[in-house]
Amino acid sequence: MSTMVEDARGIFIRVQVSEERCVGIAACGRCLPACPVNIFVPRRDRIGVQEEDECILCELCLQACQPYEAIRIVKLYEQ
Ligand code: SF4
Ligand code: SF4
Repeated sequence: MSTMVEDARGIFIRVQVSEERCVGIAACGRCLPACPVNIFVPRRDRIGVQEEDECILCELCLQACQPYEAIRIVKLYEQ
């Protein structure tokens, strides 16, 4: 059932932004336009995440953030 799939994705994918590694929107902000489903949102100069269940695992954010390695896509079902 689709409801179960949506629930599972919501539970089993986490998008994490390291506060220590992220240099902020003014200095970078590259993840904001990179994500096709707008997971990343501005929170003042920091990066917030929303609706992680929409993540399609494209890894474009990881490429955008490569110099800093601040983003982690955690697939809880693989742990
Ligand atoms: S791409 Fe990485 S370093 Fe740049 S704003 Fe996004 S999370 Fe921070
Ligand atoms: S993997 Fe793709 S869909 Fe998921 S947060 Fe990163 S850019 Fe967005």
